[in-house]
Amino acid sequence: MSLEISRFAQSIGGSTIVSMRRKADAIAASGIKVIDFGPGEPDFDVPAPIAEAAIRAIEAGHSHYIDPRGLPELRQQVARFEADQHNLSVDPDCIVITTGTFGALSIVSRAILNPGDEVIFLEPLWDPYRNVILLTGATPVGVPMPKVDGRFEIDADRITSAVTPRTKAIVVNTPWNPTGRVLNREELVAIANVAIERDLWIVADEVYSEIVFDEAEHISIASLGPDIEKRTIVTTSLSKSFALTGWRIGYAGGPVELIKAMSKLQSQSTSNPSSISQAAAVEALNGPQDFIAEHNEVFKERRDLVVSMLNQASGLDCLTPDGAFYVYPSCAGCMDKTTPDGKKLETDLDFSTALLEAEGVAVVHGQAFGLSPHFRISYATSTEALEDACQRIQRFCASLK
Ligand code: PLP
Repeated sequence: MSLEISRFAQSIGGSTIVSMRRKADAIAASGIKVIDFGPGEPDFDVPAPIAEAAIRAIEAGHSHYIDPRGLPELRQQVARFEADQHNLSVDPDCIVITTGTFGALSIVSRAILNPGDEVIFLEPLWDPYRNVILLTGATPVGVPMPKVDGRFEIDADRITSAVTPRTKAIVVNTPWNPTGRVLNREELVAIANVAIERDLWIVADEVYSEIVFDEAEHISIASLGPDIEKRTIVTTSLSKSFALTGWRIGYAGGPVELIKAMSKLQSQSTSNPSSISQAAAVEALNGPQDFIAEHNEVFKERRDLVVSMLNQASGLDCLTPDGAFYVYPSCAGCMDKTTPDGKKLETDLDFSTALLEAEGVAVVHGQAFGLSPHFRISYATSTEALEDACQRIQRFCASLK
């Protein structure tokens, strides 16, 4: 049949968050006020100086194709930012500007993977990683990380056991979506040692690097020494910390030959990320950044509110995360209970579907992240909505028999 959709396109699943949003839209259409905790994006406005820089770029006519690697002044600002914030000494030639972290992950996977290769992920994981890898013909290998005293931990022995002759890379995400944990130095050293001993790439997704609370410190695995730096590609963006999700500006930093290959792939697939957004990103990285700490204060208050309210809900158990803007409570205590209209909750998908139908609260079920029975809440939404939704969750949990 000549009009078939490719096997690659058919092999990947759609976004769980988008399918949850569709279900939420259907519930909203029936008249229930829905609160959607699915999407991971800050509710803050774009800081004014960044918006003004974009307007200036439009007025100055910066509307043409640019270097597929990105604006030279932006790559310089990225190099300075990474040196100042994360102790990384990268030359601007070792940086490519991408369409968000997603764009960076997409081109790095095509630059390092061949069909049949394997890539290790630590579960629970941000589920799009799997699809990005599947589209290269490589195989994603999820390695469940243990929960010790209720806390998700890194177990390097489990990672080592998952390495095979076909393994090409390990993906490390800190701060970690969906758990909200910030990996500590010992954990990062343990992962780095596996990569060095087994000669693997590290793809370090640091998209939440600036969103850390309390005593937690974001450490870039690439900063741990030359042996790990030379095999690490950092992927990140301005989406979360600069509240610029829709502007689609990210970047990757790594060894120069890899960056050249990635730039070629970008040039031959999507050319360059928006010139206007790149001009605004120069201002974002160079201008005042007080809003990051202000946003983090708000996130922290919301985190504390959500953790406290969820822990008051019967059958839920929620840890206090130290980074990103997610909580990932266990709903084990609600499994095998029955809703007032007679539905038995056997999985976290049952839990999230029944919660949406009964109370109009949309969360993402744990199966999507590879660890059940859990669900994820993005608390990057208004405090009023969070309070309202947590009350609804408490009511829902109390109604289970
Ligand atoms: N990586 C992780 C772990 C994420 O949670 C997200 C978004 O939610 C992304 C990457 C993609 O972000 P962006 O492409 O907007 O930079």
